Amino acid sequence: MSDSIKINKIDKSRIDDVDFSTLTFGSVFTDHMLECDFIDGEWQKPVIKPYGPLSIDPSASVFHYGQAVFEGMKAYKDFDGKVWLFRPEDNWDRFNKSSKRLAIPEIPKDYFINGIKEILKLDIDWVKKDEGSALYIRPFVIANQHAIQAAPSNTYKFMIICSPSAPYYPGGVKVIVADKFSRAASGGVGYAKAAGNYAGQFYPTNLAKEKGFDQIIWTDASEHKFLEEAGTMNLFFRINDTLITTPTSDTILDGITRKSIIQLCKDFHIDIQVRKISIQELKDAAKNNSLKEIFGTGTAAVVSKVIGFEHLGEYFDIPETENQHADLLKDKLISIQTNKSSDTHNWTVCIDD
Ligand SMILES: *Cc1c(COP(=O)(O)O)cnc(C)c1O
Repeated sequence: MSDSIKINKIDKSRIDDVDFSTLTFGSVFTDHMLECDFIDGEWQKPVIKPYGPLSIDPSASVFHYGQAVFEGMKAYKDFDGKVWLFRPEDNWDRFNKSSKRLAIPEIPKDYFINGIKEILKLDIDWVKKDEGSALYIRPFVIANQHAIQAAPSNTYKFMIICSPSAPYYPGGVKVIVADKFSRAASGGVGYAKAAGNYAGQFYPTNLAKEKGFDQIIWTDASEHKFLEEAGTMNLFFRINDTLITTPTSDTILDGITRKSIIQLCKDFHIDIQVRKISIQELKDAAKNNSLKEIFGTGTAAVVSKVIGFEHLGEYFDIPETENQHADLLKDKLISIQTNKSSDTHNWTVCIDD
């Protein structure tokens, strides 16, 4: 046990009240949470305690100026009951990059990584072994100074909460390519998991849903010519036998699933190009039948197939081909994450280590 974290256990677990077969994503939380305050220029000792509501002053800056960032990661249980994290240091590193951009003080690695491990040890029964089950972990930080001045807060609260997620078999998604709204602009905060980046997508995404689409493929904010990413997923396009993914930039989130998939492509000798791709190139490929697959990658769904896209009123179906790269890469990644396949890249971390 890490002595840098104080632990205050629950008296009785709520786990027997939960029906694990009917969970909707992110609606049920485990018994414990971690709380750590930044006061007087320093992160105080973190405390793990029973999950429950916070009491926060209405003037807290997060409510007015959105000074907040988050992370999303998963823990998996293997056949022997051991619990594994996937590349957690990368989440810690990205959390601090996001925080820096939002003028939030960086969190020490011990508090982030050991905080997660200690909660998982207490809430280990919430991580189910069933195929496709996982425990979703949500570290986040909010600015909570009592002052409605538009300036960085001088106090913050870092927290970790966990939510069990049921096996989930996503069907293919239909997407619309943005020609008016933007998610992120050059010089902005698109590369950060900043809370406000998501609020800004809700309205255009609702409009897309009214038209029968599940998500938006965002394009560059200046010309809407180049494809960027979807809501919380990076994108891969397969033209003939080549996969193409957009380079990361200040408008694109540097997904951990994305970079793992790029590595797996190299392992499988799949031709992978990291370069910009325009909507024109995509439409041309769809028209001459060289477009074979589009899929998104992200922690929540791991790999999610796109079955069709619309741009400026023109709709393109992506006919289902055999031997999809999406299936091969998804199965391989999940088998590494769940400790079924050997982890030659040292990506997984056992919570007992
Ligand atoms: C979180 C996120 C992703 C995916 O990142 P992973 O590390 O793979 O989960 C992609 N795009 C956006 C905008 C995101 O917020």
